[in-house]
Amino acid sequence: MTTPLDRAATWPYENGEPGRFSYARADHPAGVAVEEALGELDGGKALLFPSGAGATAAVVLTMCRSGDTIAIAEGAYYGTSELFKQLAPWGLRYVEFDQTGPPPADATLVWIEAPANPMLTMPDFEAAAAHPAPVVCDSTIATPLGIRPLELGCDVVLHSATKYLGGHDDLIAGSLATRDDDLRERLWHTRRLFGLTPSADTAWLLHRGLKTLEVRVMRQVATAHEIARRLESHPAVTIVRYPGLGGIVSFDVTDGAAALKVETSVQLIENATSLGSTRSKIESRHRWEGDRCPKGLLRLSVGLEDPEAIWADLEQALASLKA
Ligand code: PLP
Repeated sequence: MTTPLDRAATWPYENGEPGRFSYARADHPAGVAVEEALGELDGGKALLFPSGAGATAAVVLTMCRSGDTIAIAEGAYYGTSELFKQLAPWGLRYVEFDQTGPPPADATLVWIEAPANPMLTMPDFEAAAAHPAPVVCDSTIATPLGIRPLELGCDVVLHSATKYLGGHDDLIAGSLATRDDDLRERLWHTRRLFGLTPSADTAWLLHRGLKTLEVRVMRQVATAHEIARRLESHPAVTIVRYPGLGGIVSFDVTDGAAALKVETSVQLIENATSLGSTRSKIESRHRWEGDRCPKGLLRLSVGLEDPEAIWADLEQALASLKA
């Protein structure tokens, strides 16, 4: 059944007392319904946010203090470290580390990404879980079908639900899940106090997207495997980064000019940012991330199109490099 969409901002008290829902900044029915589904997927209790970045902000505001050091995976989503940088005036420090090994000893929060976007390294979950600090895993690319970080010793799992969970490029949302009820309560208070609550429409749309998550992701991962395999032997491709899971393949051509040529030559694949939707997308990440990302790196998000059509489009775009 489809949950009816209740857009109310406020609900009448019951016998003079607030009922289950009273003011939508705290909770609303569409949000609670999708949080149940998200919690089941991640094996914890979930909270919804208006964006992945909003979920990141809630973690920091709840779990960090002035003087803390966040150790974040190198090559992870650049917006996350940019957000941490913004918090320097509040006494927050961050350092980058190679997530294929142990986090630095002095970290008070460990931030890993499975796999890192766009470098596609995978974290050493055992080493992260062995660290005394709480561990947050951004599992946007793996999705809960690829990895369940709470079962691998992480304290919090984060998703940009804008990507695979929503899956159709028509919403911006984020989610957190944890098995620690006290932490969930504290995150919920942060959300309510800072107004980091998504709209009922966003929650409803996300819930609809989740219904097809499994079939979408299975197809995207199967196609990504095949595309990565074919790119490996393409003469114009110098490096293929594919961790063996997920629907993203990052591959390198010789330089920035070649990357621009490829991304502007695709016809079926969209030349646009973001990932995880029904439509394949490709872009040079250097344009956003500068020197932390190789100039020739192209991030391909595999969609639901015919795998042969995706490959044919990539082949003709790569062939443009010879012209
Ligand atoms: N985490 C990852 C891995 C991402 O790729 C993104 C966005 O691209 C975010 C977090 C931030 O999510 P949002 O754009 O929904 O705020």
